[in-house]
Formats: sequence, structure tokens, C-alpha cells
Amino acid sequence: MNFNLYGYGPPDRRRWIVADLGVTFGGQDTPGVDIILPDPAWIEDHAEDILGIVLTHAHEDHIGAVAWLWPRLRAPLYATPFTAFLLREKLRERNLEDEVELNTVPLGGRIVLGPFDVEMVTLTHSIPEPNGLVIRTPLGVVLHTGDWKIDPSPLLGEVTDAG
Ligand SMILES: [Zn+2]
Repeated sequence: MNFNLYGYGPPDRRRWIVADLGVTFGGQDTPGVDIILPDPAWIEDHAEDILGIVLTHAHEDHIGAVAWLWPRLRAPLYATPFTAFLLREKLRERNLEDEVELNTVPLGGRIVLGPFDVEMVTLTHSIPEPNGLVIRTPLGVVLHTGDWKIDPSPLLGEVTDAG
């Protein structure tokens, strides 16, 4: 149920980016519940200050809540091609494909969202196109890893960009 917020700026003018918007799955302690969504209530009150929702990779625990919660956040989406393709299908299932701004970012691409300069860094994981995010701001750099492992010979996709 990954759902991360990064904020920049003084409290009255703070801007936000969201990194991942995923679900988790019900278990024995939640009988009858298939999926569980993160609670966006706090950031929903600041939805107009969200500059973008950046998705690191296409696992359900990272993108599974997008089509459910986007109507409450309404910010543009950013993802590399494989993740964007799967997102588009999920948005279509909920009749949102014409409403949502879904931006496809090339592998290794950069997105400037207000004070955030976000670089997609190719990693290896268990799905195509896992990305870490190097989030540069005027005050410092944050490395948002997403999910990763160091796999020098992935069956599919590129090796980790160690540079
Ligand atoms: Zn994953």
C-alpha cells in the first residue's frame, strides 16, 4: 500500500508530489476484503497543491489504488512506458482515461514539477521498468528507491543504472 508524499515550501504555499499509489491485499484478519486502499483524506484537502503523481513500477502495491483514488486527487500521472500502459488499462476500466493526464516518461527521463526535479533511475526488480526516483530540490536531494534488487543479469529489461 505504497503512498508517499514529498512536500516543499512554507506551510501556506507548500507543493507536493506523490510517489506511488498502491493497494494492499486483505488477509485472514480482514475477512471478505480483497483490497485495501490508503487513506488520502489529509492530502485530499491539499489536492490543488499536488503537482504530480509519479509511479515507480507497475506492481499493484504501487499503482493499484490510482484508478480508485485519482478522482479525489486529480493530479497528472507520470510513469515509464510499461507502467503507463498498465495504468491506462486500469483507468479505462473505470472510465477515467479521458479525464486523467497520463504522461509517459522515457527510461532515465526527468520531470520538473515546480521545485521538484525528478529523475527516473532504472533499477532491477521482478517486473519490467522498475524505477528509483532521484528527487532534487533547492534544499537537497532525496533518493526514493521504490522496490529494487541488484540483479546483474535480469531476464527482462535493463540492468540497474549504477551511475
Ligand atoms: Zn514491486
